[in-house]
Amino acid sequence: MASNNNSVKISNPRVRFAPSPTGELHIGSARTALFNYLFAKRYGGTFVLRIEDTDKVRNTQESLKNLVDGMNWLGIHWDEGVDENNPLDSSKDRGDFGPYLQSARWQNQLNAAVKLIELGHAYDCDCPPQETFGTGKCKCYDRQKELHDIPHEEKSIKFRINPGPPVVVHDLIRGEVMFRREDIQDFVIVRPGGLPTYNFAVVIDDAAMEMTHIIRGEDHLSNTPKQILVYEALQLKVPEFAHIPLIHGPDGSKMSKRHGAVTVHEYKNEGFLPEAFVNYLARLGWNDDTDREIYSLADLEELFNLKQVSSSPACFDREKLLWFNGKYIRELSDEELFEKSLPFLGKYVKPDDLNESTRKWLL
Ligand code: GLU
Repeated sequence: MASNNNSVKISNPRVRFAPSPTGELHIGSARTALFNYLFAKRYGGTFVLRIEDTDKVRNTQESLKNLVDGMNWLGIHWDEGVDENNPLDSSKDRGDFGPYLQSARWQNQLNAAVKLIELGHAYDCDCPPQETFGTGKCKCYDRQKELHDIPHEEKSIKFRINPGPPVVVHDLIRGEVMFRREDIQDFVIVRPGGLPTYNFAVVIDDAAMEMTHIIRGEDHLSNTPKQILVYEALQLKVPEFAHIPLIHGPDGSKMSKRHGAVTVHEYKNEGFLPEAFVNYLARLGWNDDTDREIYSLADLEELFNLKQVSSSPACFDREKLLWFNGKYIRELSDEELFEKSLPFLGKYVKPDDLNESTRKWLL
């Protein structure tokens, strides 16, 4: 059943793209960033870039740079967030809701965890993860006095799932999705040593940054009931959710390296134009109920809405992307095509050696 929320007037939404800088900018993430950006533009809202850098082992500065470069190439600019030249320096952040690096918001997240313990929604736990895995409930809740004195390095904090009615996600793309509480396990919100987990930190940060709509990949749908329960336990306003279907390869399985290039940089390096790439990305899952295919970023900023995002997986089609690229290339003037081709002619001509006559000849 479609959610009523679709008919609610949207004004000045606050949305965010919250990547973890653990690899290159994947086309699926680029599309999530684009849809958030377009949604903010369409309704006069604010698009925030928050970096979820809590995975210290897998985070790299290089992937953070890659992410910022990829977004710049696509023309997806953020209104608030980390500084594009100094993303790790919170003093350079843009916006009133910083810091925009998740790791710098640690204290705020821990305070919320302590509050949840006080409210009885969370508890100290010293079970090894493998012992509770699969059974859902551990017995720690009854041993709170004893656990209170154990140092934080040796225990985690868990969120308690109380019995109750199913948790309903009112998804703006998928309609109502129900999750039975019996199927949700008590989950760790702070790891031994004090590091908050994704499912917890994301709620505390989204609430503190006053996010109104959470638009992200469908792979996060199963996390959403846990996050809703945390919002409710802390009496925070639950935002709207929209889970975008994943991008599949031509064989119907989730898009991966087996299907060819999967990162924005690969397409950039192959010579795709960002305008063509953005147009193709937007059409991967969204259409305005007409046969029109060509949209500039400015057109999309005016037309995009979540109601027209399909709830079934989008199938990546390289031929179609090539078709879009061809369309955009043919629109270029000779001079523009020449300039854009130069980086690819490096083997034959160095830009520094370019004199007027070679230039004319090449043109
Ligand atoms: N850091 C998460 C990711 O990259 C963010 C998910 C979300 O948008 O809540 O998947």
